[in-house]
Amino acid sequence: MLNNLIFVLNCGSSSIKFSILNPKSKKKYLSGLVECLFLKQTYIRWQYLGVEYKKNIGSYISHQDALNFIFDKVLSKKQDILNNIIGIGHRVVHGGKKINKSILINSETINFIKEAIPFAPLHNPANLIGIKMVIEKLPILSNKNVAVFDTSFYQKMPKTSFLYAIPYIFYKKYYIRRYGAHGISHNYVSYQASIMLNKDFNLLNIITCHLGNGSSVSAIRNGVCVDTSMGLTPLEGLVMGTRSGDIDPSIIFFMHQQMGISIDKIHEILTKESGLLGLSGKSSDFRYLEKHYSTDKRVQLSVDIFCHRLSKYIASYMCLMDKRLDAVVFTGGIGENVSLIREITLSKLYLMGFKIDIEKNLLIKNGKSGLITIDKSIPVFVIPTNEELLIAQDTIKIVS
Ligand code: ADP
Repeated sequence: MLNNLIFVLNCGSSSIKFSILNPKSKKKYLSGLVECLFLKQTYIRWQYLGVEYKKNIGSYISHQDALNFIFDKVLSKKQDILNNIIGIGHRVVHGGKKINKSILINSETINFIKEAIPFAPLHNPANLIGIKMVIEKLPILSNKNVAVFDTSFYQKMPKTSFLYAIPYIFYKKYYIRRYGAHGISHNYVSYQASIMLNKDFNLLNIITCHLGNGSSVSAIRNGVCVDTSMGLTPLEGLVMGTRSGDIDPSIIFFMHQQMGISIDKIHEILTKESGLLGLSGKSSDFRYLEKHYSTDKRVQLSVDIFCHRLSKYIASYMCLMDKRLDAVVFTGGIGENVSLIREITLSKLYLMGFKIDIEKNLLIKNGKSGLITIDKSIPVFVIPTNEELLIAQDTIKIVS
């Protein structure tokens, strides 16, 4: 039935995901994705009543232009759906130092999101544009916008995990600490894993790997996240599409003092030119990297470094558990689709008790979920993430 619909908007740094769904029945009425914002060709794909549409919407398209297209072209004349929206859920990457749950958006919430911009400079500004545009385009629902934060999931982490070993004053006075990211996805897949394992979520010991353009690992002990690989910003941790992840901080001083590279340029190098793109020199897209893994040595090296670091994180998070690990989960565009990285990573963890089922691993992709290990292994699941559903569920609780 077309009622109690939630509009979910996820404005990323270079993409926009949107959907209109009923969080109770989980039925999606409309969903879409804008890709390649600010690049030579920006595309939009959307699905409505089982039909898929794709369009090139121009060059160097901004978030505002793309949102105008979504409202004026994709959603226009869909009154049956629009009239039944009762709330809008916005994914917000960083809630800064104060926010530990999803909240209704008002001027105070907007200030919190603005204050957290230094911690997520690529993401929070995009989230704010989305919020502003939705309030303008759907004024009747202006007091039904909810912010669902990626950082909320990490607010219960202990100080031993979230503090950096720098003078304590930087935490006390400037709130420099580990905040984590991708919390909505880690939260969703860990809960799904508890259902698959038929285990009470509050007793669950699990390591979740969200591997997409941005990638992170989280350790969840007895249903509470106790550590995660992203830090003050989403730059720390794993090797990512274009982000370096962990590096020796001295590299920054070296680039600046010895090579004369400006701080702004170093930031650009570490966020946009590093990771898989920087190492391979070819692409950050795993569809390309997987295809050229056995023929291009640099591609192979970049993928091997990605898996090397991922396996080290998984192994180190095992020692944070207070009993046997229940499972590891792979999710995100790479985790869900690239059997190669699951195989390489788990083979490095063989001695820790992971034994992959090669056949099953090859078969699980394109939205399928399931187990990819043999019986004697610590279970490893692939679970497609569904951040929209979790955002919609939180939103409906708050607006109603
Ligand atoms: P984001 O962090 O932007 O949400 P995604 O979770 O969509 O990213 O993941 C993007 C990554 O997943 C890219 O490296 C992309 O190449 C990879 N990917 C997505 N689908 C596939 C697929 N079918 N095969 C191989 N790689 C894929």
